[in-house]
Amino acid sequence: MAPKLDSYFKTVDSLADSFIDRLRKAVAIPSVSADEERRPDVVKMGHFLKDELTALGAHVEARPLGPQPHKEHLELPPVIVARYGEDPKKRTILVYGHYDVQPALKEDGWATEPFELTIDDKGRMYGRGSTDDKGPVLGWINAIEAHQKAGVDFPVNLLMCFEGMEEYGSEGLDDFINAEAKKFFKDADAVCISDNYWLGTEKPCLTYGLRGCNYYSIEISGPGQDLHSGVFGGTAQEPMTDLVRVMGSLVDTNGKILISGLDDLVAPMTDEEKSLYGDIAFTMDNLYESLGSKTGIYDDKERTLMGRWRYPSLSLHGIEGAFSAPGAKTVIPAKVIGKFSIRTVPNMEIEDVDKLVYAHIDKVFKSLGSKNTLKTINQHSGKWWVASPKHWNFTAAAKAVQEVWGVQPDLTREGGSIPVTLTFEQATGKNVLLLPMGSSTDAAHSINEKLDRRNYIEGIKLLGAYLHYVAEEPMKES
Ligand SMILES: [Zn+2]
Repeated sequence: MAPKLDSYFKTVDSLADSFIDRLRKAVAIPSVSADEERRPDVVKMGHFLKDELTALGAHVEARPLGPQPHKEHLELPPVIVARYGEDPKKRTILVYGHYDVQPALKEDGWATEPFELTIDDKGRMYGRGSTDDKGPVLGWINAIEAHQKAGVDFPVNLLMCFEGMEEYGSEGLDDFINAEAKKFFKDADAVCISDNYWLGTEKPCLTYGLRGCNYYSIEISGPGQDLHSGVFGGTAQEPMTDLVRVMGSLVDTNGKILISGLDDLVAPMTDEEKSLYGDIAFTMDNLYESLGSKTGIYDDKERTLMGRWRYPSLSLHGIEGAFSAPGAKTVIPAKVIGKFSIRTVPNMEIEDVDKLVYAHIDKVFKSLGSKNTLKTINQHSGKWWVASPKHWNFTAAAKAVQEVWGVQPDLTREGGSIPVTLTFEQATGKNVLLLPMGSSTDAAHSINEKLDRRNYIEGIKLLGAYLHYVAEEPMKES
C-alpha cells in the first residue's frame, strides 16, 4: 500500500520559509575545511547541526577525529553522528552528508556575498554550500521536523553521519566508518547519500555507479641541472623529448586508450544495461553547453554517456618542471614529471591497471633508446563503485520520486568519484543509494553556487517520502 504522505507534504510547504531560514543560518557559517583559519567555523557548523538535531529529540554525538594528518597542530572537525528513533520493529536507514564547504571569496567573481543566502526572483538561492551539501543535510533534519509538526509517525529509525572534511579528502573518515560499522551504524539496513546532482535541470535521478581513478606520474630525468639549448641542444638527450613521446603513446585524439590489455579488463555491456541509456534525459546540446564547445568525441547521446560512465578514460593533466610561462625561454628542463590519470570502471582492479600501465610505459621508453632515467608511480587510486539499481533501496526511492515529481527517475552513473560511497558499502555490507537534491546547474565548487527553492522544498518531501517507501518496500536484492 502506498504511504499516505499528504499531510507531510502540506506541512513541508507550510514550513518552507523556516526551512529556508535554517539554510540561511547554515550558509552564514563559512565552514571552509581547506582553510586553517576557518577551522573554528567548521566546528561551529558541526555544533549547529548537533543543536538542531538535539532540539528535535535526536540522540546526537560530536565525535572527535584527532589531529589532522600533516597538520598536527590542527584538530579535525568532529563527525556528527545521530540516531532518531529506536523502534526495533522499524527498518534503520543510515544517511550521510557533509557540512564543510569549498572556499569562496566575493573577489572570485561571485555576484552576491557567498556566505549570505541570496534568493533571486526565479527562486535560485545563491550561497556557498547551498547545494553542496548543506541543503541536502538540512533536508534530513527538516524531514524530521515536518513529521513532528504534521503528527505523522516517522517511518524508520534514522542514523545520520555528517562529516566536516569532505572537501579536503575526508581526512579520518574511512577509519571512523570502519570502526563504527559494527557499533553506531550496526543496525543500518541500507544507506542513502545525498551529495550529487541531477544530470540535467528537469528530471530527478538515482545514481548507481561511479568511476574510480588511478593517478600516475612519470618522472624522466637526465642532466644534473637545467640546460641552455644554445649550448647543449644537440649534445644531450632531453628528458622532455622522451616524456612527450611516452605520454603521447597513452591515448589518441578520440580518447582511445592505447595501453594494451586494458580493454580486456572492462566488463562487457549487457543488453539490459544498454537499455538503460535510451530514455535518459540528456542531449548532445547539454554536452556542448557544458563543454562550451562542440568538440565532443561522439555524435550520439548513448555513446557519450557510456564514455562518461561505463568506459574507462585516460586524461593527460600536466607536466611538472616544464617551461610553462609566456615567452620564449630556451631552457632544456633537467627533470620533468608528467601527470595522467585513468578513470576506471568494472572490472578494472587497481593493481591490474597498475601492471599494464607500468609495462606499457617501460616498453615505450625502452623503444626510445634513451639514456635518461624513468620512474613511474601511482600517486593515488580510488576504486569504482556500482550498485544494483533493482535493489529495494533503489526501487523504494524510485517510487518516492514518482510520488513527489510525477516522473520515473533517470538511473544514472557518474564519471567522477565519491569515495565515501564505497567505504560505506564495504564497511556496512549494505546497499548504498545516491539520491541527489540539486540540479546540474547548481555550480557546486564554482562561483555563484545555488540551490533552487523548488529542489530544496520538493527535495525535503522526497527525502521524507523515500523513508516511507523504503520502510515498506519488499526486501528484494535485485
Ligand atoms: Zn559535496
